[in-house]
Amino acid sequence: MTRGFLVVIADSPFETSEKEEMILGKIGASVQRFTCSNESQVIGATKNADIVLCDSSPITQNVIMNLQQAVGIVEYGIGYDNIDVNAATERGIVVCNVPDFMTSEVADHTVALVLALARKLHQILPSTRLGEWTWRKFRPIESLDSRTAGIIGFGNIGRQVATRLSAFGMKIVAYDPYIPAENVRRLGATPATLGQLLTSSDIVSIHIPLTSETRHLIGKKEIAMMKKSSILINTSRGPVIDQGALLSSLQEKQIGAAGLDVLATEPPDPSDPLLMLDNVIITPHIGWYSEQSSSRLQEHAALEAERILTGRTPRHPINPQVLTERSAGGLSRK
Ligand code: NAD
Repeated sequence: MTRGFLVVIADSPFETSEKEEMILGKIGASVQRFTCSNESQVIGATKNADIVLCDSSPITQNVIMNLQQAVGIVEYGIGYDNIDVNAATERGIVVCNVPDFMTSEVADHTVALVLALARKLHQILPSTRLGEWTWRKFRPIESLDSRTAGIIGFGNIGRQVATRLSAFGMKIVAYDPYIPAENVRRLGATPATLGQLLTSSDIVSIHIPLTSETRHLIGKKEIAMMKKSSILINTSRGPVIDQGALLSSLQEKQIGAAGLDVLATEPPDPSDPLLMLDNVIITPHIGWYSEQSSSRLQEHAALEAERILTGRTPRHPINPQVLTERSAGGLSRK
């Protein structure tokens, strides 16, 4: 009996909830949409929910203790640091995210940053707008063909970036201590240590999760190992780079340029000197976005909620132990 389920959207990156209503309406669930931003709003909105969908609203221990009958929480996207997963696990509530809706978008965006910086578009475009018509002013521009791209983190996005940059004739080296060297080779890249990658690469592109191990993985010492002409790209998470060290290395021209879709603090302070440098391109954490990926995210989140409500195994549980603790019939109302 699935009729009568209530799905509460605590907050959402989308303008309407038509897609969720369409998908969940098929199993007789009703959808309520809120724009909660603090804990008490979330408690008020979600207490009778069977499923909570959320973007960045705080799903704290307090919120979870107040849920009367919820069986699942689904995050719109990858990062779920707004959800107290331990508290959910203790109450037998499965938490899921949607990690795979935008891999090709982030890879495309990464390559867009590489090409824009390698071809100096960020310097050329303002010049042509002023009516200038010269190529000499932008020397030197190096060919990408036969040069080396170093990929830090050889997961889904890192591999797609490697495929795209290979098409430009680049050699690919990869640093990922969690992937066996033979797998890296099989995918057409040369496995390397972080030090080997930094010293040999013309492009260094970062595709790792933010963890206690990866925070400031790239700092003063690592930047000092890079080639003076090299381009550093980060479309993963801002804090994997020590931003202070990056700022001074760019100001002192220790490396050639940087392309950043993510920063240590987002949005940045408008007076941050990093925003003003002419050897940097910064985009507003937009790598994930296209009309298609945005639509996929909304659909995949709703389908995950539907799977949980109909007792099927969700595709991306963060706390899968909750599922094994439950009966083979899957999730049910508590
Ligand atoms: P993934 O899990 O498929 O790949 C991450 C890889 O990093 C894995 O292969 C893992 O082994 C490796 N890794 C982990 N710790 C490492 C370390 N210390 N050194 C080197 N490698 C390490 O993830 P993905 O889908 O490729 O996404 C990568 C990151 O991109 C995400 O964690 C997220 O932070 C970021 N991201 C950004 C955007 C955006 O809009 N800019 C969108 C989605 C994801």
